[in-house]
Amino acid sequence: MQGNSVIYEVKFSLLPLPFIMNKIYLLLGSNAGNREVLLQEAVKQIADNCGEIVVESSIYETAAWGMENQEAFLNKVLQLDTRLLAEVLLKKLQAIEDNLGRQREVLWGPRTLDIDILFYNSDVISLPDLKVPHPFLQKRRFTLVPMAEIAPTMVHPVLHKTIAELLEECTDTLEVAKWS
Ligand code: AMP
Repeated sequence: MQGNSVIYEVKFSLLPLPFIMNKIYLLLGSNAGNREVLLQEAVKQIADNCGEIVVESSIYETAAWGMENQEAFLNKVLQLDTRLLAEVLLKKLQAIEDNLGRQREVLWGPRTLDIDILFYNSDVISLPDLKVPHPFLQKRRFTLVPMAEIAPTMVHPVLHKTIAELLEECTDTLEVAKWS
């Protein structure tokens, strides 16, 4: 009898994972091709393949970060509800980047579409190919400005500060201008 209840508890603890709804923030960026159309198409493919898009920020324009002699980026942030596990979500987002013509040769080089997972609930994930919260988000105004538009009170689970506080403290000097 006791053995059965242990088996039940183990199954119960494993079963609900795929049924849990997770709250995700994604950053989309494009600085090659028709940037606005690429962002629109990415939003559509994310909605079709990854879950429900609950909130979208405005689009912002920022000079390219890290390598400034290239076209400016358009960026936006989405809040997505998904049942996908983080690694599965990453693979689906990378497939969408590839569908939309992403080349992966140059670090911080021009990109038709870049999708970063900023937050996955308040989880802290450190896998070889996936770090969440995104390690650079507090250093980049182009991430914090759209995040602050849709989730200013969200608390960073490692830094224990709100997005609004992180934006106020951020020393990044690149201008982030509302585009549409
Ligand atoms: P990027 O050039 O910004 O698209 O970076 C792509 C690489 O970052 C991929 O190899 C991903 O596996 C890795 N990566 C690590 N953490 C994240 C994250 N939070 N979101 C997206 N990509 C990530």
